[in-house]
Amino acid sequence: MSDDTIFGKIIRGEVPCDKVYEDEDYLAFKDINPAAPVHILIIPKKPIPMLTDATAEDTALLGGLLLTANRIAAKLGIAENGFRCVVNCGPGGGQLVYHLHMHLLGGRDLSWPPG
Ligand code: 5GP
Repeated sequence: MSDDTIFGKIIRGEVPCDKVYEDEDYLAFKDINPAAPVHILIIPKKPIPMLTDATAEDTALLGGLLLTANRIAAKLGIAENGFRCVVNCGPGGGQLVYHLHMHLLGGRDLSWPPG
């Protein structure tokens, strides 16, 4: 499946990123427009456009996404104070890039509800 999103280009190395973590299934890098002192995007390399496109076949991949957030939060020193994981889904959810990704936000106390 072709992935012409900006994240597909980043995965293929066609567009640079400030990488913080990579393994066989995931790539994580700093958001270009950070909303918190720590704002990381964690993306499965599999090109699932949005959360509602995921299927039961993706169960392990989605679980691994959260565990990868744990790992990166610990690595970046925000695990102890706490952090937030966000998946925007569709236009009403504020999704701009249609390659599934999770925002990892931390480094300050985050308010609730989000805007
Ligand atoms: P969404 O609204 O789709 O959940 O979030 C997309 C995120 O991708 C936004 O926070 C935006 O700042 C980030 N972003 C968009 N283009 C780029 C890029 O080229 N590089 C990086 N590092 N982040 C990007």
